[in-house]
Amino acid sequence: IERTLSILKPDATRRNLTGKINAKFEEAGLRIVASKRIHLSPAQAGKFYEVHKDRPFYGELVEFMASEPVVVQVLEGENAIAKNREVMGATNPANADEGTIRKEFALSMGENSVHGSDAADTAKDEIAFFFSGLELV
Ligand code: ATP
Ligand code: MG
Repeated sequence: IERTLSILKPDATRRNLTGKINAKFEEAGLRIVASKRIHLSPAQAGKFYEVHKDRPFYGELVEFMASEPVVVQVLEGENAIAKNREVMGATNPANADEGTIRKEFALSMGENSVHGSDAADTAKDEIAFFFSGLELV
């Protein structure tokens, strides 16, 4: 059993899509074991996405992620990291498969509704970035 970090991005929370997106996770066998709504500061968003700091879209990404509240969640299941990325679909919604979250809900490459950890080591770090041991059962 594996855990991964998921973020429902500002474009999703703004359009009241948390229930519809969470239904997709649960239908795929991913259990939501922790969840909270937070409003990231630009500094916090910048730290979370530090790995992208030299990419041309970094400034835009940080500004967007700090623009409105997000919902940060821990998803648990068999192969949760890969399964979550499958349910999310491709980064660019134009390339996302039918039935994926980004195909159905994403507005653009930047405002693409969800984030998901991409590997076991990043999942561990990203979960620890947002949740303390006490919040995880
Ligand atoms: P995430 O990390 O959010 O789960 P991802 O792993 O599919 O998405 P990354 O390559 O890690 O994609 O990029 C992180 C985020 O940066 C993307 O989800 C998207 O919001 C934004 N992003 C990536 N490429 C671009 C781009 N070319 N223009 C604008 N925003 C982009
Ligand atoms: Mg990524």
